[in-house]
This record gives sequence, C-alpha cells and structure tokens, in this order.
Amino acid sequence: MAFQYNHYYEIYNSSSGTYVNLNGDHENNVVNNGEKVTVYARTNNPDQRWALERYGSDNQVRIVLQRGGGWYALNYNTENTNCIVWHLNSAADKDTVITLEPAVSFGGVYRLKLAQRNLYLTVVGSSLKWMAFTNEKDQIFSFVEPGANPGSATGNGLSLRCPVSYSGISTKFVDGGHRGVDYIASKGTPVYAATSGRVIRVYSWQGSTNEAAVDSIGNAVFLEHFDSKGNTCGMTCYYHLREAPTSLISADQYVAEGDLIGYVGNTGKVVAINGDGSHLHFEVKTGTYFNNSTVQELYHSGIWVNPLNYITH
Ligand SMILES: [Zn+2]
Repeated sequence: MAFQYNHYYEIYNSSSGTYVNLNGDHENNVVNNGEKVTVYARTNNPDQRWALERYGSDNQVRIVLQRGGGWYALNYNTENTNCIVWHLNSAADKDTVITLEPAVSFGGVYRLKLAQRNLYLTVVGSSLKWMAFTNEKDQIFSFVEPGANPGSATGNGLSLRCPVSYSGISTKFVDGGHRGVDYIASKGTPVYAATSGRVIRVYSWQGSTNEAAVDSIGNAVFLEHFDSKGNTCGMTCYYHLREAPTSLISADQYVAEGDLIGYVGNTGKVVAINGDGSHLHFEVKTGTYFNNSTVQELYHSGIWVNPLNYITH
C-alpha cells in the first residue's frame, strides 16, 4: 500500500503540477453542499488536505475533507460532470465511492474511478471533471504527505520490498554473470510483487526454447513498473516458480506491492541449493521499454541491475 486510510494527503497531479483543491475561501470553515473542486498550486491550506476513508472492499474509498461543518466527500454533479463535495452523511451515497486503480502505478500513483459511473477524475484546465477513461496523465494522481516533495513521495526510481521470505542468499548478482539474486526458500513459499505494476507476462515453462539462458528460468513472472509520471521505469522478474501462477495473475493485470504472484519452486535449470533446488531467482531491470514479442525478447530487454541496491523495505 502506498497510502494509509484515515490519514491526510495532498492529492497531486504531476502532469499539471497542481493539487486537488476545494474551490474558494473557507477560512470560516463553512462549506456548502455542491461546492466545486478544482486544482490549484500548493497552498498549505486545509482545503488541499484529503483523507482516504476505506469504504467497502480494498482500494475502495471515500475521499473526504474535514471542515467545521463535518466531513465532505468528493462527489459527482449530475448536471455538468464537475467534481463537487457533498456533506458525508450516514446514508450510502454511491456517487462518493471511488475505486483507486493502481493503473499506471509506481509507489502510489492512481487513477480515481467513480465506481458507480465508471468515470475518472480528470484535470481539465483548472477544473476537475469526472470523465471516461482516456489513458492520459491528467487522470493520474498521487497521494503526498502535506508539504512533502511529490517526487520523493511517489518515487522517481525503483523502491522495492523483498519479494520472498528466505533463509539465505546463495548467489548474489554478478555484473555480466549471475543476473539476479538467489533467495533460498522451500518449495511453496509465497512470492510477492516487489512493488506495484503491470503483469507483462506469466510464462509457463515448456522445456526447450532453443536458448539456454531462457530455458533456465522455468515458470516465470515479469512485472513492469512505472515512475510518478506514469512512464515505464523498470521490470522485476521472478524465476523457477513452482507452477505458472495463472490462477493468481494474468497478463495486463495490475498488481499492488505485496500481492501474491506465485510460489517458490525449482522449475527450469536449477542447481541443488535447497535439497531439491527450490529458490527464487529475482531480477531487476531498468529501462523505458520492454519488448514482449517473445519470452526470449523479454528476457533480454532492459538493463540488469543489482536487486539488492533497490530493495529499500
Ligand atoms: Zn539465480
């Protein structure tokens, strides 16, 4: 999770460099139902501090602002599709329920989807509207600690968690040699996404591909990761999995950091590290484009880097 529930954030759109802002002056703490929400430069005013209130399933929230009269939630104006606030009362108002899609997500970048209407919060000039999906960066927001640097809060480089619980490292990264890190773990140990991203490919190992390097990977998962502006910045690769985890994930799906993406195994060519050879070979690559036309192309795409230099938590 790149955010916490019931915690104040500024909601930042990097393409415009602006923050979600309740329009107008509320120094007297009076907010009226239906007031328009816009974007504005950072003000350090409470009108830019929003809390994510969990509502329903995971990643479903109400985005709320606390002012003198209580709590106000982002809402939908049926007449003009503007983003407005409405007093949050106990009755369920479906037009306040927002699904946070870690769509082009790296370290806390989301699309805010109005679940009921299948519309996305969109920056239009200084206005905020609920609009159809565009795949544009004006629909991408990040949650920033009040006053913090939005770049550092959302990450401009890969910041990974360790993908597996392990008993030791049998082989480290060697530039030009062993291209990942081998975590010793018994067969069936869960493997987790090292950070949020998109599933590029779930590879089901079928034995020979006429290329020794690719033959060695076994069942594998490849994830693509994005920077705070939604641009591709890296890939993580998980090899020798017990089986191709098609029951857990599939290509083009988005995963959050820590999502279960497979189990440790010993498929492919493995050396006897753990009695039966079970371990996770974990690779990290940097790059802005990963060729997915074949698993061989994907395997060779990008620049191998030492995973241990990117694991921060
Ligand atoms: Zn290895």
